Amino acid sequence: MTFRQNGSLDTSGVSGGGRGGGGGRRGMAVGGGVGGVVVVLIALFLGVDLDQLGLDSGGSGQGGSGQGQLSGSAQEYQAQIDQCDLQRANSDTVCRIVATTESLEDVWSTQMPEQAGMRWVQPHTNIFRGAIDTGCGAASSDVGPFYCPAGQEVYIDPAFFDQVLVGQLGGSGSSAAQMYVVAHEFGHHAQTMLGDISRSQQDPQGPSSGAVRVELQADCYAGLWAHYATSTPAPGGQLPLLESLTSADVDAIIQTAEAIGDDHIQRSGGARVDPDSWTHGSSEMRRQWFLIGYDQGSMQACDTFAAQL
Ligand SMILES: [Zn+2]
Repeated sequence: MTFRQNGSLDTSGVSGGGRGGGGGRRGMAVGGGVGGVVVVLIALFLGVDLDQLGLDSGGSGQGGSGQGQLSGSAQEYQAQIDQCDLQRANSDTVCRIVATTESLEDVWSTQMPEQAGMRWVQPHTNIFRGAIDTGCGAASSDVGPFYCPAGQEVYIDPAFFDQVLVGQLGGSGSSAAQMYVVAHEFGHHAQTMLGDISRSQQDPQGPSSGAVRVELQADCYAGLWAHYATSTPAPGGQLPLLESLTSADVDAIIQTAEAIGDDHIQRSGGARVDPDSWTHGSSEMRRQWFLIGYDQGSMQACDTFAAQL
């Protein structure tokens, strides 16, 4: 997937290291899960809430990579974000995330009113490294990119793509794969606007659970974005931000959707495939629902709650 070569980017919807980022102290100390507050974190991998992960205890050094680097990385990413333009989005992962959020805004602010009669409100996106304090509590990038419904914000550690998605799981390292991940998280935002996100926590595990239906719908919504991404004009009647989406791009997205299927993750971790523990759906299910959204471009076709799984 390629962005057109010329054009600026509105980077105001993305922060480095957290809202208002650019050096504020971000960290491990505040726990959203403390005091019985129910927090929900919709992560690409785990789909768990923070209480289960025990991520709210402050200073416990989850994952190893983040502590002590936080404010430095926040500044680093903010400076990088401020310099992003469309051309850089074709070569730089941080700028690619920024430009993808813009493309998502263009598509959703057209499709949400047309298909659901609702005005789209863009979520805020945070690019961070290691660990971050969120409206859902403190979280580490170990859970993968995630969406916090409480704050309606997306969180992405760019290191995830090479280190985990490609390095550990065998997903594609292509730009299309990275954009699909961002689009999946925006799918959770659409679900939050529509009131569907809570179905995940009401029925959190199993091959036909609410959690799996929520995740597959986010994949379908990512496909819906891809369906319109190269034909939806940027504001002011300008050309679409994305000028190409090839069959190789679709193949790369499918490879990636399969790599993050629960059965594949279980197998690659040396575990037995146990459908009863699934939270996101199998490789086959994720591939299938991305393609339903991509082929049909219809929110109605993405009704995973009515589907036989
Ligand atoms: Zn998800």
